[in-house]
Amino acid sequence: IGGHPKGGQESVRPAQVRSILAVASGKGGVGKSTVSSNLAVALARQGRRVGLLDADIHGPSQPRMMGVSQRPASPDGKMIEPLHAHGVTMMSIGLMLEADKAVIWRGPMLMGALQQMMSQVQWGELDVLIVDLPPGTGDVQLTLCQRAAPTGALVVSTPQDVALIDARKAMDMFRTLKTPILGLIENMSSFHCPECGHEAHIFGHGGVGAEAEKLGLPLLAALPIDLETRLAGDAGVPVAAGDGPMAEAYARLAERLVQ
Ligand code: ADP
Repeated sequence: IGGHPKGGQESVRPAQVRSILAVASGKGGVGKSTVSSNLAVALARQGRRVGLLDADIHGPSQPRMMGVSQRPASPDGKMIEPLHAHGVTMMSIGLMLEADKAVIWRGPMLMGALQQMMSQVQWGELDVLIVDLPPGTGDVQLTLCQRAAPTGALVVSTPQDVALIDARKAMDMFRTLKTPILGLIENMSSFHCPECGHEAHIFGHGGVGAEAEKLGLPLLAALPIDLETRLAGDAGVPVAAGDGPMAEAYARLAERLVQ
């Protein structure tokens, strides 16, 4: 993750943030938020100063996954103090909204919310700010790419065709917006039965790797369907904070990204 801010006049990129990493997916439910939180924790464990911005406005899951629930303070009513969890500085639109209430916003409001979360949060000095984007190719993605000049994007997909079709659209959007795609991550790649050891490919096999090869992009990780990952996410302590095989897998992903 190199840091070359290139935001223009209207940039909302926080001044003390060296690099911004966008985590995207075509579809929801493929594990984009899970990868974002675990990657953030893995990078922090390797000594990086890491921020995590949950910009998935319609389905913010980072408060749950990172185990935070308090509303961020804003002593002067302008700047917002981010929260800290598992070594990561974080902010989520979900912390500012009422639980169980739908966000019914038009584009300009979505864009305003993202801009506020970038420029009115006291991020402090960060080596990397990971932005957990909404799925798809909408206004939030457009604003981030145009106004914050991300250093690069990671695209998360399952190997299933319906997920890959939409992931291709997300990649096309990044190419159009001139945001470099750093690589693809295949999530829910396989399932190892803990009882009998059989390996099953529930969502198909190798689809993301094949896509990466076709596009000349690296496949940065192939992460299995893993009960610990799901339980840890639900419990608010990402699996990357522990010391099992998934923590190692996320540590390897983090190392690949900072090479
Ligand atoms: P997205 O951000 O793409 O909508 P999430 O990260 O919220 O997806 O994941 C959707 C659900 O799947 C969550 O309950 C999460 O815990 C679970 N999940 C994600 N990745 C895995 C995995 N590799 N193994 C098991 N469960 C996973």
